[in-house]
Amino acid sequence: RETQRLQKVLAHAGVASRRAAEDLIRQGRVRVDGVIVTELGVQVRPNQAIEVDGASIHRDTLPVYVLLYKPRGVVTTSSDPQGRKTVLDLITGIPNRIYPVGRLDYDTKGALLLTDDGALTHRLMHPSYEIEKVYRATVAGELAERDLLQLTEGVDLDGKVTAPAVVRLIGTDGKTSVVELALHEGRNRQVRRMFEAVGHPVLDLTRTHYGNLSLNALRPGTWRKLTDAEVKQLY
Ligand code: URA
Repeated sequence: RETQRLQKVLAHAGVASRRAAEDLIRQGRVRVDGVIVTELGVQVRPNQAIEVDGASIHRDTLPVYVLLYKPRGVVTTSSDPQGRKTVLDLITGIPNRIYPVGRLDYDTKGALLLTDDGALTHRLMHPSYEIEKVYRATVAGELAERDLLQLTEGVDLDGKVTAPAVVRLIGTDGKTSVVELALHEGRNRQVRRMFEAVGHPVLDLTRTHYGNLSLNALRPGTWRKLTDAEVKQLY
């Protein structure tokens, strides 16, 4: 993991609030690798030893795994140049610096995993691994049998055909249809583009499952930590 500002590390380790940690630093009570640091904003690496008043700080934090029910109208990045709300704005009280695994569009809601476990993130994002994701889409119109078949067998998106998918028509009222789609791929705006390609634009999109993780009792904008069993199953 990367470097972090000293006062932030102290705050995360539970030594003091960020403000109080700044005071400790100014007062010359903090050492990094044995050297007193009085300047604010010094960056420290995870393996550097930190002491406050001569007592070492335990910095070892276990990785954190969070499942967020991402609502619509939130970006899946850590910071947005346009100042829009990000998924990280919805998760408070987690000291670790976590990141989303993959991405959901601004207007898509549903299951989003966030973690600071870089090794797991790397694996989950690797094309050869690509975990199953289940989406529930409300689309315009009534889907014909051949539309469903095409979605199942593969749709040409920019010259590359999508991998076989499991597609299930949940219902239709004639004007709109609800379809469940299970994919292993994760191409940019894939679900929306697949439905556009068969002439039924997506009106509403929810990712209900990410691998073994399901939204269950979560409401949009709320999150929970994964259980140990869930983490094990992801590995
Ligand atoms: N497919 C999409 O089109 N959008 C998402 O956010 C995820 C999958």
